[in-house]
Amino acid sequence: MLPYHKINNEDIAFFQELLGKENVLHHSSQLYDYAHDETENLLFYPEVVVFPENTHQVSELLKYCNQLLIPVTTRGSGTSLSGGALPVCGGIVLSTRKLNRILKIDAENFQAIVEPGVINYDLQKALESYGLFYPPDPASWQICTIGGNVAHASGGPKAVKYGTTRDYILNLEIVLPNGEILWTGANTLKYSTAYNLTHLLIGSEGTLAVITKIVLKLVPKIPHNILLLFSFESEIDACKAVNDLFLNYVVPSALEFMERDAIEWSIKYNEISNITINEKTNALLLIELENKDKEKLFEEASYVNEILQKYPLATEPLMAETEEEKNTLWKIRRKVGEAVKSHSIYKEEDTVVPRAHLPELLKQVKTIGKKFGFQSVCYGHAGDGNLHVNIIKGNMPDEKWEKELPIAISEIFEVCRNLGGTISGEHGIGWVQKNYLPIVFKPQHFHLFSSIKKAFDPNNILNPNKIIPDKW
Ligand SMILES: Cc1cc2nc3c(=O)[nH]c(=O)nc-3n(C[C@H](O)[C@H](O)[C@H](O)COP(=O)(O)OP(=O)(O)OC[C@H]3O[C@@H](n4cnc5c(N)ncnc54)[C@H](O)[C@@H]3O)c2cc1C
Repeated sequence: MLPYHKINNEDIAFFQELLGKENVLHHSSQLYDYAHDETENLLFYPEVVVFPENTHQVSELLKYCNQLLIPVTTRGSGTSLSGGALPVCGGIVLSTRKLNRILKIDAENFQAIVEPGVINYDLQKALESYGLFYPPDPASWQICTIGGNVAHASGGPKAVKYGTTRDYILNLEIVLPNGEILWTGANTLKYSTAYNLTHLLIGSEGTLAVITKIVLKLVPKIPHNILLLFSFESEIDACKAVNDLFLNYVVPSALEFMERDAIEWSIKYNEISNITINEKTNALLLIELENKDKEKLFEEASYVNEILQKYPLATEPLMAETEEEKNTLWKIRRKVGEAVKSHSIYKEEDTVVPRAHLPELLKQVKTIGKKFGFQSVCYGHAGDGNLHVNIIKGNMPDEKWEKELPIAISEIFEVCRNLGGTISGEHGIGWVQKNYLPIVFKPQHFHLFSSIKKAFDPNNILNPNKIIPDKW
């Protein structure tokens, strides 16, 4: 690794001149909020935090940092769960908080152009009056940015019907470490024009370039939806039921799985008093259906009920029709991660397998848990085969936790690989998962990865020490 330059008063004066004093933080008391993201309890302090307001400023900043060898970690809202936004080599954190304009909503072409710091939820709200919809909606949608979503190739509950962020990005304006500004492709629905740089940038976690503008694809908003909650006696049955729906021609607009502990902890965390979990329940499926015709929606709901009656259900299904009822169920699901976090020290893994193998994945996760003496709480975007496995520390002694956790995680990831899956479906690799990558990639892959990184960022200043493992 190149020796990095330590930021001094002269550098700070340059940043202040370029961005204005109010857009540069460098006092130690101001840096804590940028030293962590939502990845467990990791802390890496930046030396300086900057808030550029336009592409030109980003370009000048990068040019300067590239010449002096100052690491630059781009940050949206810092909700990454893989340590993506942690400045592990110090240097500057480049916050996109002030690059937060919705520049254009082109309703005729079903497109929007936004800056990377736009909050996902704010975009959704802005599109409502146009009858348009941007489907990728991570559970963190009220706080995460579109730029962060692009850089992590994020998913969300709607991915089961509509696909992930990757399916909604048409074109990107990027700034390279040497300050050059480029558009990666075209604002078209089809693209067969040489290497696809847009797709290379999606999921690149701030290691190749800084994304400064994003052209998004939009779809018409389907006006009616309902939410169904099914309680299963067996968690394996709940996983089996997921694929059963598709085999019976049902494509829900969301299909989420939660184990009993996950939902119980979330109900308690959110202080929800009007929903109780029957003692026979071991897992739940939250199923969203949508249709432009209200009657057809209810027909489909009773068809889903018919399909799922073959499984031993713990209670009658619950149907949420009003906005208030739906919001309560979504709150339970969207806040489940925070509920788990508040319960115990934990480690979350973002496993993903072909959907039909979900029951086998869950079975094997439980077997590995028993072998190592870990409790695990699982939930996730079951319709995508994406299971978030939360390994709970509980009362486990620190030494056993630190020594055995990486071995248990490796075994879980090997199961994913053997089932045709991989080690992250939507949270990315960042800092905490990089050393597990050799489970799914060969040295030839890492040669290619390193060559791509070098071509974009020869001085290794952009989010250094991420994605590529220490040994390969
Ligand atoms: C409660 C909770 C629920 C979540 N649910 C989901 C979920 O359902 N689905 C899902 O996929 N994820 C989920 N996440 C993870 C996280 O919210 C997503 O990864 C999100 O996309 C990160 O956005 P952010 O703005 O917080 O990005 P940050 O955390 O700030 O950054 C993430 C990565 O993107 C890079 N980056 C950010 N902006 C840019 C840019 N402009 N140019 C280049 N690189 C950039 C950063 O360097 C970093 O590597 C959840 C997280 C939490 C805490």
